[in-house]
Amino acid sequence: MSKKILSENFDNPDAYKLAVYEKLGGYRSLEKLFKTDPASVIEDVKNSGLRGRGGAGFSAGMKWGFVPKDTDKPKYLCVNADEGEPGTFKDRKIMVQDPHKLIEGIIICSYAVGIGTAYIYVRGEYVTPINRLQGAIDEAYASGYLGKNIRGSGFDLDVFIHRGAGAYICGEETGLIESIEGKKGQPRPKPPFPAVIGLFNCPTVVNNVETLSNLPFIINEGWEAYASLGTEKSKGTMLFSISGMVERPGVYEQEFGVNLWEFIENATGGVKGGRKLKGVVPGGSSSPILTAEEARNTILDYESIAAAGSMLGSGAIMVFSEDNCIVKALQVISRFYAHESCGQCPPCREGTYWIARVAERMEEGEGNPGDPDLILDVCPHLMGMTVCVLADALAMPAKSYVEKFRDEFDQHIKEKRCPYASSAASSVMG
Ligand code: SF4
Repeated sequence: MSKKILSENFDNPDAYKLAVYEKLGGYRSLEKLFKTDPASVIEDVKNSGLRGRGGAGFSAGMKWGFVPKDTDKPKYLCVNADEGEPGTFKDRKIMVQDPHKLIEGIIICSYAVGIGTAYIYVRGEYVTPINRLQGAIDEAYASGYLGKNIRGSGFDLDVFIHRGAGAYICGEETGLIESIEGKKGQPRPKPPFPAVIGLFNCPTVVNNVETLSNLPFIINEGWEAYASLGTEKSKGTMLFSISGMVERPGVYEQEFGVNLWEFIENATGGVKGGRKLKGVVPGGSSSPILTAEEARNTILDYESIAAAGSMLGSGAIMVFSEDNCIVKALQVISRFYAHESCGQCPPCREGTYWIARVAERMEEGEGNPGDPDLILDVCPHLMGMTVCVLADALAMPAKSYVEKFRDEFDQHIKEKRCPYASSAASSVMG
């Protein structure tokens, strides 16, 4: 049984209410926090080994440490609650079930970095999470956890919700910042990084919902308690959104260091209907697929999944069974990324569109014998060539699908049809 840090209150249907959250020990970290020097809080978060849970997996404490201390400019926190990566639905769970935990995390981060204003950027479709979050913010203001002189500490913090309009690219930190500023959500070239020039050209921390929600535990229990969980470089626990062909899809928290497939099987009951496992996408639609054998032989942590040729990303695990079509999966994700490209980089704008066209014709039984190689030829031209990683987010999985499941692509072309078309479960992703 894994330690529960993020999901400890998920079984309590009233944990979203302030009075219940307080009874469960909520906001108790603040007393300790306000007696601690902000620089020490940053050191503690660095020492805990907490890494960003939005996708990149970068050290949270280090990111905070890049924000200049000797500046006259205001500093901002942007909470990334856009959660646009296909297959990811764990931040929604925190915002609905335990929104005060996120607010407590926002206070801790803001105090440590010297931030006076935080914006929570939530995707617009998340109506229930937005309502729950706004209710929690209102309660927090009314009880003195937000606003001026929080609980007599002398520390001031305002928190606002900003609703996104549903663009995937606004989940990229600089696209998100542009969007909050009221512009088109187009990512900015980096450097400069947001820690130095971010929102309104001021120093800005961009952290994901789950990342921030770990902070109350780190303050309450100490960084050592957090660092004692997980593996040498992947500390703590992570929330995984598991979907696809499993008996019980859902959000599950797991400490790093266990076998990937054993975790999925134990949490969800395994592949639906006793079917054979075909593959596992471990970190959202932008991560390369693992074959069944790779999934069975991989440890669940950042390093082991990278060593297996994929990435942990946002922890969105998608399970493919023997009757899911890999060509269809490529068709679905390539169409998605082509649609979501913001269009400012030609390799992304053109490349995602061309991969989508080729995938579509293969799935429709109109592919040419050279099409799988054409995909492999195109992918390198998308990788590392663009302002943000959206182009890589298609090229990496596309390459892995063709390389690891070449037979399926060739079969579509040879038989001029999708061999899985009669299966109701031909697609995991759409
Ligand atoms: Fe826009 Fe694509 Fe370039 Fe990212 S890679 S900035 S989404 S065109």
